[in-house]
Amino acid sequence: MTDYHHKLSHLAAEDIETLYQRYLAGEPIAALLVEYAIDVPASGLIRAFPPVPCADLDCPWCERPLYTRRRGKSQPARSVNEAFCLTCEHRYYVPAYNRLQRYCICAPCSQERDHARHDQQARLREQILAHWAMGAESMVPYATLGIGSKLTLMAIIEARGSAWSDRIEPVEPGHCALLLSPSETMDTALFESARLQALLLVDPHSPLEAFVPNPAVPRLERVRWISNITLDSRQRATLTEVYRHLHRDLARGPRPEWHRELTQLIRSLAAEEVYGQIERRCAEHGLSFRTRERHQAVAESLLEHLPVCHIWDLANTALRGVLQFAEHCNVNSMHVVGTLPGKLNHLGRRAIGERWAPCGSRQTAGSLRSVYSRLLHGLLLGNPDGGLECPLNLYAQALPCTSRAASSAQLPCMQGDTA
Ligand SMILES: [Zn+2]
Ligand SMILES: [Zn+2]
Repeated sequence: MTDYHHKLSHLAAEDIETLYQRYLAGEPIAALLVEYAIDVPASGLIRAFPPVPCADLDCPWCERPLYTRRRGKSQPARSVNEAFCLTCEHRYYVPAYNRLQRYCICAPCSQERDHARHDQQARLREQILAHWAMGAESMVPYATLGIGSKLTLMAIIEARGSAWSDRIEPVEPGHCALLLSPSETMDTALFESARLQALLLVDPHSPLEAFVPNPAVPRLERVRWISNITLDSRQRATLTEVYRHLHRDLARGPRPEWHRELTQLIRSLAAEEVYGQIERRCAEHGLSFRTRERHQAVAESLLEHLPVCHIWDLANTALRGVLQFAEHCNVNSMHVVGTLPGKLNHLGRRAIGERWAPCGSRQTAGSLRSVYSRLLHGLLLGNPDGGLECPLNLYAQALPCTSRAASSAQLPCMQGDTA
């Protein structure tokens, strides 16, 4: 309804319809206003016409017909896409493929939508509780954990655990969190490993949006996790209890029976340290790449002879070379980033052949260490350099080992050195 709706009250319904048709036909508005004795400005005439009832639309709350406003003569027919109730606030918006669907915000409509959303959320929570019921998974006794599982669990608890909620909490997007491991790929792998071994269970009371659209396949980075470790075979231990046991266990240092597993962990962590550093440096220059396998192969091969921090140095040099080449030749740097593994390998081979001296201690001091790295090289192995400044075989040689492990679990670099 408009301020002008009473301006035509002196006219009969048929006269108003005739006037509207003459208006649509394009007759001069000023002449029509004089002829029909209407006191509105020419631009206000269209707003003075009464709305038209819709034949097929009723207000669901008043059960009276809905109305539409009349279109101006210069408006296309489709521009009138809204119907309204004369007695309440209800609106109806005609759906169309080329615009966003609007919904009525009158009080009863809003309330009805709230109820529908509430019912939908309740149904979704029921499905989640049925699928992720805690009783379905048997608990994992602490005593059965290997050193790899212990490190994974302790790193996740330290980086993401909350003693207050007794849950592993998801990292809110955009929030700074402790670095769990050197790379996002390894972060994901740690959670996946904990899930597959049932060390952690998906909390069925995690935020609902983590389970949309499929409750059976939640977004693992958005759910909360519960410890599934038991210390007494009767009940699940709290995160704090598990963490305390892990800390005491790891602080005692490496055991001979862990030799083989620790040798592998040191090796794979070092490769992630190199890859994660390259990934971060590239991201700083706005470069992303999908050549993880090639970088990892180069990192693993160079790590047989060079310490992590030396390879970081070489990777920085290689990256600078790639960026300078892109700038010099006016090529998009995204196109040349694929040459980075080859350049790094070339530099690494020269460094090994010509026995370049590493100059990584400056970088090591300023580097951001992940929780996993600190636990493995700091708490467990007590390496003051954090596993960055020596060739891998030295760390492996320092591990206590049983006589059988000593003969079968050497790193390839150790075998190469002793050959
Ligand atoms: Zn109504
Ligand atoms: Zn409504």
